Amino acid sequence: MQTRFDARQLADPDTAEAEKVLRKCVHCGFCIATCPTYVLLGDELDSPRGRIYLIKDMLEQDRPATEKVVRHLDRCLSCLACMTTCPSGVHYQHLIDHARVHVERTYRRPLAQRLLRALLAKVLPYPSRLRFALRVALLIPQALRSSPLIPAPLRAMLQLAGPYGTVARAAVTAPSALMPPPCAVRGRIALIVGCAQGVLTPGTHAATQRLLVRAGWEVVLVSGCCGALVHHLGRRAEAHAFAARLIEKLRATSAAGELTAVVVNASGCGTQLKDYGFLLRNDPPLAADAARFSALSRDITEVLAQSPLPVQPLAQRPVIAYHSACSMQHGQKLDAVPRRLLREAGFEVREIAEGHLCCGSAGSYNILQPQIATQLRERKLANIERTGAAVVATGNVGCIVQLQAGGARSMPVVHTVELLDWACGGPRPAALRISSPADSA
Ligand code: SF4
Ligand code: SF4
Repeated sequence: MQTRFDARQLADPDTAEAEKVLRKCVHCGFCIATCPTYVLLGDELDSPRGRIYLIKDMLEQDRPATEKVVRHLDRCLSCLACMTTCPSGVHYQHLIDHARVHVERTYRRPLAQRLLRALLAKVLPYPSRLRFALRVALLIPQALRSSPLIPAPLRAMLQLAGPYGTVARAAVTAPSALMPPPCAVRGRIALIVGCAQGVLTPGTHAATQRLLVRAGWEVVLVSGCCGALVHHLGRRAEAHAFAARLIEKLRATSAAGELTAVVVNASGCGTQLKDYGFLLRNDPPLAADAARFSALSRDITEVLAQSPLPVQPLAQRPVIAYHSACSMQHGQKLDAVPRRLLREAGFEVREIAEGHLCCGSAGSYNILQPQIATQLRERKLANIERTGAAVVATGNVGCIVQLQAGGARSMPVVHTVELLDWACGGPRPAALRISSPADSA
């Protein structure tokens, strides 16, 4: 694609990077058919190519974002299905990230939107605030939570929070900093135990830690949010601050002993960590370590695939439908490994039709764009139902929350590592204990 940026504009490293991305697009439109918002809305401006045109025009003209541009960019899920499809290697992720920062800098949103976005940015990345918010949500009567008198984003938030207030209040299986290292240590791993996941599905971190220790890794827990949630809201300074804090902690951890890998078990966060090298490239005090820790970052399934799992016989294993989170399949290009691990652990794994389409979770998208997110969830749940499976496995906490909020149509949605841990002698995943005591092992 031909671009018309002048030398002054290209002196800005972010604009220069955006220009590189734009020039790779050859307008072929292959990406359109796999874009969830185009599939639902049928408007080219809600497709990757349409958004690329809008972003190009806005940046080239040095124009503040308009209401129309913001509407179409806000509808983008950042699912990155377009990057998987694109034959030209257009790095849409970096382009939309830059455009979102431009929008936040130049566009004044209506008050309600500003308040909602600020609330999300100030609550979701902080475990104690999120736990408190979930407990407050529990106090709101069920009838009121679904009342049409409540604005749609707030209703979506309450619906999503539904089962999790109880989890936040209950005693939970948290990872233990005191878990003994294995006798023969394969290496030392920093396990990121970040923000929302520890509150929403606390069993996931504990299962991850048990699996790693059984596989022979020494595990060091590193707490802190990676910044992905605020990054997707275009709040660059906050995302940068979260990344800087996490890098500082990883520096201290690696100074105490060499790290073999930095492991993440929420694929949305993993995608963000793997991009730290790019995101912090222009910050000299952090750039080198950001690149180093990006290179060391692994999804938990990548590490587990390096060693045979000590699988134990289970009386009965439920049939699994594997939901490949967008951040896993499109963001990290990890599609086959989790399925293989589940099959090797003895589970029958069934494929979900339209597996490339997002479930509508996408960070805080399901709160900010509840209508589209709900349509995507309904479509995903219908495809899941057709598999005939009893349980859904996935590698991202956002998808777990989104799919679990589907009401009567939802079936238990469990993190892949909780199923693997169960197959290796760990406890039955909490979601299965609650939903189907009949088929207990
Ligand atoms: S990231 Fe997803 S929603 Fe956004 S343009 Fe690409 S395919 Fe469409
Ligand atoms: S598939 Fe790639 S090159 Fe083709 S229109 Fe989409 S982004 Fe541009």
